[in-house]
Amino acid sequence: MPTYAYRCPSGDDFELVRPMAEAADPASCPDCGEAARRVFGGPALRRLDPSLRRALDAGEQSADSPPVVTSVPGRSRRATPVTRDPRHARLPRP
Ligand SMILES: [Zn+2]
Repeated sequence: MPTYAYRCPSGDDFELVRPMAEAADPASCPDCGEAARRVFGGPALRRLDPSLRRALDAGEQSADSPPVVTSVPGRSRRATPVTRDPRHARLPRP
């Protein structure tokens, strides 16, 4: 269910999660109990989890200006270590 923002005549702001059919219905303020009207604001993008926000930003940036490889990657990866233990030669091979 979506979250809607409301403001009572005393100026208290609060949010309610309610069905879309009840979005325009007045809501009673949790502080003063008066009937509050719905207020409209921007999308709640800032309420996203910070890690999800970073992932979405990175996705947008990579779509607009993807990182470009300018040279062949070097052999920075360490080679597989070779054992010198003679008992390892008797082990079954894949
Ligand atoms: Zn109030």
